[in-house]
Amino acid sequence: MSRLILDDETGIDDSGIVRGDTVAGWREPSGRIDWAVRDWQPEPEIVAQARLDEWEAVLARVGRHAQLGVRHGDGRPAWHGLSKSPDDMNRGIVGATLVAPGRLADVTAATRQEDFTGIQVQGARRVQQLVVPRIVEHPQGAELDPAEARFVVGAPAAQAPAAPLDLPEELTAALLRRLRRQPVDVARIAVGLRVAETWELADGFQVPVVYDVAPGRTQGYVADPDGTPHSTLQACRNHHLAGVLQWCTHCLQPTCVSCSEAVRLCRLCQGLACGDCVVTEDGRCRACAALTKVGLFARGRFGVSAGGSAWHGESPNVQVTVRQQRNWWTLERWDRNGRVTLQLDPGISRELR
Ligand SMILES: [Zn+2]
Ligand SMILES: [Zn+2]
Ligand SMILES: [Zn+2]
Ligand SMILES: [Zn+2]
Repeated sequence: MSRLILDDETGIDDSGIVRGDTVAGWREPSGRIDWAVRDWQPEPEIVAQARLDEWEAVLARVGRHAQLGVRHGDGRPAWHGLSKSPDDMNRGIVGATLVAPGRLADVTAATRQEDFTGIQVQGARRVQQLVVPRIVEHPQGAELDPAEARFVVGAPAAQAPAAPLDLPEELTAALLRRLRRQPVDVARIAVGLRVAETWELADGFQVPVVYDVAPGRTQGYVADPDGTPHSTLQACRNHHLAGVLQWCTHCLQPTCVSCSEAVRLCRLCQGLACGDCVVTEDGRCRACAALTKVGLFARGRFGVSAGGSAWHGESPNVQVTVRQQRNWWTLERWDRNGRVTLQLDPGISRELR
């Protein structure tokens, strides 16, 4: 029988620690065995343990990297290599760092924390930034080389206690067969980033923002409620950060889609008005709400001839004029975007005084 000799009477074979007729068989470890996991990075899985008086032995592995450890009393353990796998050591350190202790991980794509471009907020400065890995499970795609994956995710170098491959071949083969009966737990992940920042706006107000960098990409984005990604943001009047702002033509304040008073079209003049500047139940802006009939003598000023009528309304930044010549109705709006003329349905007459 092929065995590792420990002393004159004691040895280790496929069944455990053996002395004469006594066999202390391999069994599952009952708890943590400190000496067996010390000097490993990541901590190995202790698949089996055996103990006979002062002698203790373990079968330790990180994936297919497996070693036999032997200790006498409180002495320093001696390690013997069973199989070497630098790849699985790297998978193990990535899994232990990002997934869970004792798990190996294959990585399909990853972004280095040093390698991403954050968002910008116009007219603001960043006062705080926190970057953590963001794990995506069950990703598509081919796996990175494990050593590259370890480097990219920033996991520490893997290490195991020095262990020469010095066991009898038969014993090595038998112990590896025993190890293989227990499957190795390998996760498949992609690693992006989650970024939490605080930006200070021009008026001193501080706004938090959280966004992701997709695995393998470098540009960070904030998605609009409709899913459109933006890497440059602006602050609206309510200090929301948004990719697109819309300006109310009346109060000239920006809103974003998250604002309850978001800019919409005036029902009558079709101008851009925020919720605060749409002032009637039927959805008219401040200027259209103020439309009043122009007196007989002022009509000339509004370019209406004798047979026609005109209505005019203003807000501080918008002017609206409705003109009627016979059955021909037009509306002219002037705002900071320029001058627009629309044709109106004659039914409008019912809504004007
Ligand atoms: Zn403010
Ligand atoms: Zn407004
Ligand atoms: Zn907003
Ligand atoms: Zn209007």
